[in-house]
Amino acid sequence: MTRRTIIAGNWKMNTRAGEAAELAKGVAGAVGENPAVEVAVCPPAVYLSVVADVLAGSAVGLGAQNLYPAEDGAFTGEVNASMLRDVGCRYVILGHSERRALLGETDAEVSEKLSAALAGNLVPIVCVGETLDDREGGKTESVVETQLKGSLKGLDEARAAGVVIAYEPVWAIGTGKTASPEQAEEVHAFIRKLLGELFGSEVAEQIRIQYGGSVKPGNAKDLLGQPNIDGALVGGASLKVDDFVAIIQAGC
Ligand code: PEP
Repeated sequence: MTRRTIIAGNWKMNTRAGEAAELAKGVAGAVGENPAVEVAVCPPAVYLSVVADVLAGSAVGLGAQNLYPAEDGAFTGEVNASMLRDVGCRYVILGHSERRALLGETDAEVSEKLSAALAGNLVPIVCVGETLDDREGGKTESVVETQLKGSLKGLDEARAAGVVIAYEPVWAIGTGKTASPEQAEEVHAFIRKLLGELFGSEVAEQIRIQYGGSVKPGNAKDLLGQPNIDGALVGGASLKVDDFVAIIQAGC
């Protein structure tokens, strides 16, 4: 089974309109029309339209960093899947560890958002990953299992293949510490085994699992060369065109 590598940039709460447009222009220009890998950028919600205009006609997809799982209505400050589609999004990141830690986002909320994303024709990128304490306490697998099963609750086999999972060890995010390719592969293989238990091995083989956590041009090739690592979710390095493009090239 060949899974198409997917590299996504999570810009988090960074850039202003001008920078966002320049960054998107640089990525789209370097990626060209038929990249060997799938590429997406996920700007802050307020700049989605700005970036959508720049990416129009390019092979780079647009993603959001979150959504609210409801139809239009009295949800001050929130944005739903239909709005994200309307401004040109194809992807949405769900359950990022920063949202889990800072905003108390739970697995149950992630699973509601996942249903809303799929109903709204968005490709969800569902994040899971353990903290340093979890890892040092030998709890990596149990934490990842709980998050994965909770976040994917209610997902049916038919739609599971279209979901992207991002394994992001919290201790490696924005810290400059990267999981070694072997450490990452071990967890990715474990996630694929769990996906097989949930959806059957045929579907599990189709689901792409990205690695995230201080992915840089210097470590991308080794990480992406692992059998169960099907892409990268890139934070800091996605804010520099040259670095992000080098990571994309490492995946080609
Ligand atoms: C992320 O935010 O998803 C991430 C992986 O960040 P960084 O690449 O900066 O560690």
